[in-house]
Amino acid sequence: REKLINITIGLDKEINKFSSDLEKENSEITVLKKRIEILEAQLQEAKKDAKTDDLTNMLNKKALTDAFKKQDEFFKRYKRNYSVIFFDIDHFKNVNDTYGHDAGDIILKNVGLLLNRYSRDIDIVGRFGGEEFVIIAPETDKNGAFIFADKIRKIVQKTKFIYKKTRIDITISAGVSDRKEGDSYEEILKLADERLYKSKKGGRNRVEAE
Ligand code: GH3
Ligand code: MG
Ligand code: MG
Repeated sequence: REKLINITIGLDKEINKFSSDLEKENSEITVLKKRIEILEAQLQEAKKDAKTDDLTNMLNKKALTDAFKKQDEFFKRYKRNYSVIFFDIDHFKNVNDTYGHDAGDIILKNVGLLLNRYSRDIDIVGRFGGEEFVIIAPETDKNGAFIFADKIRKIVQKTKFIYKKTRIDITISAGVSDRKEGDSYEEILKLADERLYKSKKGGRNRVEAE
């Protein structure tokens, strides 16, 4: 009987220890789960950061390049044409020099907003750098992209950009190309950039597609 009682006490102790160990492990698991949740959220945030331009919250150059590569796969596999529009704000240095860098920043944000608002949901819109923006328009040929770019150009020209109660007039120039014109996405981006340069030389506030 004595033996049995000792065994029972021993078992009881063991069970208690086991369940307290289990409880401890469970709470450790809960803490670890929480940490994983936080790390996952931070990872998502970092991924978004890596693809987002801080000032305008638009896609940045890296994200645009990734989108370009993806779009190019559709062309290579299914012959789906797409266009690229390269925008650059005219005489933007003057804006900074005349009204200050903060005014310049606000103009950049607002031009970004206009580009987003007037493009289609399937268009890929981003800030390529400085005062340059790029739109990739899927299923769109050069003629369509030209009409679209010129519409945006007119909208920007008409928009009243206000900074500290002062109206700042802004114009943009653009160059357009489509995928059928070149052998790679790099090539047509370069073509659009060359046409943008042509728009600048031709007097600015215009779009070139040839
Ligand atoms: P063009 O009509 O030939 O394009 O002339 P531009 O003055 O726009 O071109 P330029 O390349 O000489 O100047 C670009 C200006 O854009 C100079 C630079 O300070 C300004 N810029 C680039 N990034 C930013 C930015 O994030 N914020 C502000 N405020 N200005 C910027
Ligand atoms: Mg520029
Ligand atoms: Mg410029």
